[in-house]
Amino acid sequence: MTVPNIVLNNGVPMPQLGYGVWQVEDAEAEKAVATALDAGYRSIDTAALYYNEQGVGRAVRSSDVPREELFLTTKLWNTEHEYDRALAAFDQSMGRLGLDVLDLYLIHWPVPAQDRYMDAWRALERLYRDGRVRAIGVSNFTVETLTRLLDEGDVPPAVNQIELHPTLAQAELRAFHRENGIATEAWSPLGQGRGLLEEPTLVRLSAAHGRTPAQIVLRWHLQLGNIVIPKSVTPSRIAENLDVFGFELSPEDMAEISALDVGRRLGPDPATMSF
Ligand code: NAD
Repeated sequence: MTVPNIVLNNGVPMPQLGYGVWQVEDAEAEKAVATALDAGYRSIDTAALYYNEQGVGRAVRSSDVPREELFLTTKLWNTEHEYDRALAAFDQSMGRLGLDVLDLYLIHWPVPAQDRYMDAWRALERLYRDGRVRAIGVSNFTVETLTRLLDEGDVPPAVNQIELHPTLAQAELRAFHRENGIATEAWSPLGQGRGLLEEPTLVRLSAAHGRTPAQIVLRWHLQLGNIVIPKSVTPSRIAENLDVFGFELSPEDMAEISALDVGRRLGPDPATMSF
């Protein structure tokens, strides 16, 4: 199974489909990531906050897949939005992962109430210039916080990883990303599995295409140009979520899925999120 790449704004290729490990315990992460790598995933998304960087690192280091074929993302937590603290937090993440160079480092949330994300961004720019990370980006940034980052920063973010699924389609933010050369990465791409996958439109399209509702949703993302990082610890679902390159949704199918957008968040609102 070959996953296509999205070429980031600095020329670095990133697999369009990867494996997310939020809420996977460190002890379980090694096995889950090993299963994903065996299935053919080459991109893994973790974060300091997930407390499983060690398990991810063990899986990566014990895998037969050469490091240069892998794309590893981790994230800077909200308490570290200060230049020196951010540099130290990166070193700690890399120590836990057991890696020398990271592929993508993201500011996890902008936390506008704290208003320190530009300090954090300066640290990410430094890590990027020093060659310790191949691309830098953000997560949960809004048009407002992205605009400031683009205006005041030296390196434009390569990626914004945001909550995005058919019931929160994020049209405005995706258009802003497109205009500014920022790749859109969808978190909770399956709407966390709750409710969304029983949605009648998706069940109908699932029967029509002979694919599962999860595969229909992932296909919708891919055809929109989103990067996706679905999570599962069930081996059959890990494989199923990767098997989405052998069929195509029609423009009508795409429009029907996009019509499910009701602007409903599952996670916090990034404009007010402050923990
Ligand atoms: P998701 O949308 O990937 O849904 C995962 C859940 O859906 C699973 O726990 C399972 O219950 C179900 N599921 C998965 N595959 C399925 C299938 N084939 N059929 C039926 N049900 C299935 O949700 P997520 O884990 O919240 O998001 C994915 C990744 O995004 C995370 O693991 C993490 O890496 C990232 N993330 C980032 C942020 C952020 O703030 N940057 C926030 C949340 C998640």
